[in-house]
Amino acid sequence: MVSTTLNGEQLLRGAALHVTRPRVAALTAVYEHPHADTESIIGVVREDLGEVSHQAVYDVLRALTAAGLIRRIQPSGSVARYESRVGDNHHHVVCRSCGFVADVDCAVGTTPCLTASDDHGFAIDEAEVTYWGLCLGCSTALSS
Ligand SMILES: [Zn+2]
Ligand SMILES: [Zn+2]
Repeated sequence: MVSTTLNGEQLLRGAALHVTRPRVAALTAVYEHPHADTESIIGVVREDLGEVSHQAVYDVLRALTAAGLIRRIQPSGSVARYESRVGDNHHHVVCRSCGFVADVDCAVGTTPCLTASDDHGFAIDEAEVTYWGLCLGCSTALSS
């Protein structure tokens, strides 16, 4: 777990972004709630700052994603979710029933999935792999 002493201001400055309270609050929310969707993040930011518009939080999330401070994932059929674990090409396992998302490390360590069998001349920098299934809770509920 990431410690709660996360220095959002430092991260923002490191990414050449102006430090604003909504940015720090949203960044902290994503660090503390990996794979949270936008609505949940808005809820957490509001607990922190009081009334903040949806649009303001959307804009902040977009800026943080563009700056590479957070990563946006969107499993098909799911809403967008955000996480602070960036730059390691990890994958996700998604529950078909409840939508729970967990991290899965790359299968062989160094990003082998980036080695496409045919890259069509692209400079590939990311491979998106999503494993689908039922989480433990949902499969247990089904079998009992
Ligand atoms: Zn589930
Ligand atoms: Zn993740």
